[in-house]
Amino acid sequence: MLNRDLVHSLIVNLPGLEFKWREPLARYTTFRVGGPVFCLVMPQTEDALIGLMQELRSHAVPYFILGGGSNLLLPDDELNALAVQLTLCSANIGLDKQEGALPVRLSAGAGVRLPRLLGYCLKNQLGGLESLVGIPGTVGGALVMNAGTRDGAIADPLLWVEVLDEKNRRLRIPKSELSPGYRSLGLPDNWVVLGCCLEVEPCADGVQRARLSEIMRERKRTQPVGWPSAGCIFKNPEGLAAGALIEKSGLKGLRMGDAEVSPKHANWIINRGHARALDVVALIELIEDRVRRDFGIHLKREIRIMGS
Ligand SMILES: Cc1cc2nc3c(=O)[nH]c(=O)nc-3n(C[C@H](O)[C@H](O)[C@H](O)COP(=O)(O)OP(=O)(O)OC[C@H]3O[C@@H](n4cnc5c(N)ncnc54)[C@H](O)[C@@H]3O)c2cc1C
Repeated sequence: MLNRDLVHSLIVNLPGLEFKWREPLARYTTFRVGGPVFCLVMPQTEDALIGLMQELRSHAVPYFILGGGSNLLLPDDELNALAVQLTLCSANIGLDKQEGALPVRLSAGAGVRLPRLLGYCLKNQLGGLESLVGIPGTVGGALVMNAGTRDGAIADPLLWVEVLDEKNRRLRIPKSELSPGYRSLGLPDNWVVLGCCLEVEPCADGVQRARLSEIMRERKRTQPVGWPSAGCIFKNPEGLAAGALIEKSGLKGLRMGDAEVSPKHANWIINRGHARALDVVALIELIEDRVRRDFGIHLKREIRIMGS
């Protein structure tokens, strides 16, 4: 339960916070779906974030971390919670100053957007993160989801991740202590990711540009890039493609309101204008039923749905 008066006094009295009351969240998600949240809070520094988390945890205030909102479906009605965004406080990218040492160590805050990180690598001729090109969202969200493609995921070049654990302790966890898997880094749900260190290699500019353009060309050819969406809705079952199963069930192009199973890639649902979370969820449930009926396969959701 959200004690609105308590939360109000906490937020206005804590230092270093930017906040917006009843902020509509549709514009913070790539699906362009979602109603207002009681409060959107953006700590300006990591100390402010740590202070905020301390208070939220000790008063059991419901909250969630909002990354780039590119793997999230938020409810249409007001969310009685706080959305905490790290785009101001954990926004640094830097190189470890080990002159000449290879691989190069690149650290990035959880609030850094992936396209900015890829741009930094391109500018500094550093290769190794190419499989992340075209993935929107933040470093924090990418780590939690172990974002990637069949060519590689963010856990591959990962050296360590920095987190706030459930007791608000700041910990640096080496990859050897994590259990990365398909779309998960294996971190507990209530930890906050602050940033990470990635190992990258010097790379010739022309080679990298060509590789990035090739990946983006392939994405545009096979995915409905440009439409509001959250990328793939379902995880691929072992050895199979969720999109192919949905297509074989004859669901491409099916619509509920303005939510549509993309005619280009059946594992994507696109928002054709004013889709509501209700429409998207109805479409997801229908897909699950049809694929179970037609193939006996239970599709697992990759997208995170809040309020369900
Ligand atoms: C056009 C498009 C293409 C895509 N392509 C791919 C792809 O090729 N591969 C792929 O893996 N994904 C893909 N996605 C999905 C999505 O971009 C990734 O899952 C992305 O990593 C999510 O990051 P985010 O910052 O947007 O996280 P959000 O969607 O904001 O959050 C996702 C989850 O992570 C949690 N979270 C976010 N930040 C933190 C943090 N700092 N600490 C703790 N928890 C946190 C949130 O609470 C939520 O549970 C695509 C999406 C789109 C729209």
